[in-house]
Formats: sequence, structure tokens, C-alpha cells
Amino acid sequence: MWPADVKEQALSACGRCCCICHRFCGTNIELHHIEPEADGGASTLENCIPLCFDCHADVGHYNDRHPKGTKYRPGELRQHRDRSFLAVAGAERLRHAPQDQTPALPDEIYDGQSLQFKGYLSSQTFAGAPNYEDFRTDRLETYWLLTLPQPFRFTYRSAEPTQAESIVKPDVRVLHLILTPDQYATHRGKLNGDVYVTGKVWPCITGHHRGDALLEVDDLQGADLYFAPPPITDTASGDSDDVLIVPTKKTPRNLIKFLDLETPKAKILETLGTPDRVQHVPTMNYDRVFYRYKDTQVEIGFENETVAEVIVLLVDGETWRFDIETRDQPMTLGQLTLADVLTLGPDARLDYSPGNHASQLLVGLPFGPSGGWDMHWFGALRAPSKAGRLQHVDFAWDYVAGKPKTSPSDILVNWIAKTRLSASVPPFGWHIK
Ligand SMILES: [Zn+2]
Repeated sequence: MWPADVKEQALSACGRCCCICHRFCGTNIELHHIEPEADGGASTLENCIPLCFDCHADVGHYNDRHPKGTKYRPGELRQHRDRSFLAVAGAERLRHAPQDQTPALPDEIYDGQSLQFKGYLSSQTFAGAPNYEDFRTDRLETYWLLTLPQPFRFTYRSAEPTQAESIVKPDVRVLHLILTPDQYATHRGKLNGDVYVTGKVWPCITGHHRGDALLEVDDLQGADLYFAPPPITDTASGDSDDVLIVPTKKTPRNLIKFLDLETPKAKILETLGTPDRVQHVPTMNYDRVFYRYKDTQVEIGFENETVAEVIVLLVDGETWRFDIETRDQPMTLGQLTLADVLTLGPDARLDYSPGNHASQLLVGLPFGPSGGWDMHWFGALRAPSKAGRLQHVDFAWDYVAGKPKTSPSDILVNWIAKTRLSASVPPFGWHIK
């Protein structure tokens, strides 16, 4: 049995898409132990991979106990799982992307229709010819997938000539990109980042089509929708580029602990005062307010007028002592390193989130009394110089080993956040004025 919190985190991290074939599964998704329970595998997030019914059956049949051999080793499963979680997290962020001007997708999309999609571009490796099943004997094939922030409804004609009725697939979220060799070469640098893709949608036909549908690519463009200064309509008190802001107030030490998620916006404004800046995204009923303190920039996101996320970014050269739930000792942003954060919980794990302009390492941990958990995020964002006055951090990432080359004890945390347990990495504008 999976503990409720592990189940919730795993299902939210995969967006209810299978981590092997990437089809959207909805309620038909199953959680699999990467190291079998019989071998002492724990029921933790680290040992969990969400799979569709078919892939679960495949993985189960080919474990080491089965005479036919080892189709999926734990290491491979973990790699599939991690890449899927990363792609979904990348796409989820785009839901509140400050730079986004993309028109919404139509309610209904038909086969052969040409459209522009925004999403997160990732690659996955699968066993290819001749048998399409074994990593040891088959040629490895790499597929490019586009994960969308939200699913769409796809209507297409059946490949069976006798079937006149259209087929409707209600939740298409992961698109398998069809590219020419030239396109692969040109766009390789955009992998693991936000992109706009224009192309035609087609249904998956053969078993080695992955995801929910195919996208025949006409045009692909990098889009820094997330890691970019927020330009949205500001309705704030005197905060414009020609006004010099010299804040002197220090950030309240108990801010994160004090700001309960779901608190009404009116109460926050009453407590913290008039924000320095306000962003409004009317189509999503989403607001964000900014408070600029001497030592930090605080961003509070409201969904339907209640707190959905609180993000604190450290100003370069400053420190901020703060309290969080379940910790008696305060911590100090500006001294806290990723190595410190990794000791905070048994499931603490370092994730790498690459971007076109800014990359980051982060750890997400559930905190709080049982039943009332929130996610706490600790991030080290390596941003370019135009990031304003965000605390500078630097690190190197080892793509082969899948871990940082820089020791986590040498990497400062430069932002922290509190979000709902089911939320993914919170978006924020790293640009500190
Ligand atoms: Zn599957």
C-alpha cells in the first residue's frame, strides 16, 4: 500500500501520464514499486513510478524473478520516471507563465488540423528495432515529446475503413513530435525547455508511437515563458522603471510560517500592506502581488482570491532568518545550502530544471501536520546577469551522471516557497528590481 501523501505527490508529478509510454491515464493510472516490495523496496516517492495498466503489466512480467529476463532494470525505470516528472513540471509551470501571450487552444481539435502549441520539450529513449522491447538487444530510439500545460480533446477518423464514426480522445496531453533529420539537428539545443511548436496533429497508429497523439512539426521556436521578467499589466503603487525604489523594511521572520495557504487575499493585504506591484491574469482568476523588502522579494500568488503560493527570493548579499513549520530552529537564507536541505527529510531529492536562459537545482519537501501538508521548495536558481539583484549562485551539472558536479554544500539556496501539496514547482519572476 502506498501512503496517501506519496500517492498524491506521484500522481501530481506525472500529471497522470504513464512514465513509460506517456499516455494520459486519468483514473486508470497505477503506482509500481521500482525495487519490488518483496526485495525490501520501500513505499516512498523515490521508489515509485506511475504507469498505465499495459506498461505496468509489462514491467511486472519482466522483473528478475521471471525467467524471461530483465526488460526494465530499476535504473531505467528511475530514469523514465525522472524525465517524465521533469517534463510535467516544466509544462505545469507554463500554466502561470508570466510571459505567455499564446491564444488558448480550441475546445475541440481534429486530425490534420494545424495549430500552434506551447509546451515543454523533452526527449525519451525507448527500445526500437527489431523487437521494440528490450534495452539490451534492440536499437535505442530517441523520441521528442511535447508536454502541454493542459490536455485537449482530440477527434479523429478511425484507420479502419469500415468504421465511419469518429474517435474521441478526451485528454491529449503528451505529443510525440515527428521531425525531419534536419529539424532534429537544428532544434536539439531547445530540448528541456519551453517551446512553441506549430504543426498538424495525427492519431498514434503503431505501438512505437508514444504519448497521446502525433504532432507533425512545421515550426519550432524556443520560448522563455517562465524564466523571464514578468511584463504583465502592472497596477501598482508608483513602481515603474523611472522610480528609484529603496526599500528599508526587513522581511518578517515568520512570513512563510504565518501565511497559511487558502488565506483570503483581503486578509493578506490588510496584514502586509499595499504591495509594491500587482499582476493580474484575468483568464485564470490568478493574481500575484510583490512585496519588496530590504533583504528579499516576496511574491504571493492568489487563485480565486485565496493564497495558492508564497515565494521568497533573496536579494544579493543579504541574509534572511526565517521559521518554517515542523522546525524548531530557524534557518538562514543566504547561508542555507542544498546539502543542508537534503538532510531535512528522507525523501529529499535534488532535481535539475534546465532552461534556455536560467537553470536551477531544487528540492521539494512536504511539511506540516499529517493531513494538512504543504510543499516547501528550496531552490538554487542560476540566472544570467539581467536577473536584477537575485542572490547570485553558480553550479555545474553533470548530464551523464545526472547529478551536480558542484558539491551541494557549495550551492546556496536563493529562493524558497510554500505551495499546495499537489502543486508543481511554483513559477516566479526572478527579476528583482
Ligand atoms: Zn504506459
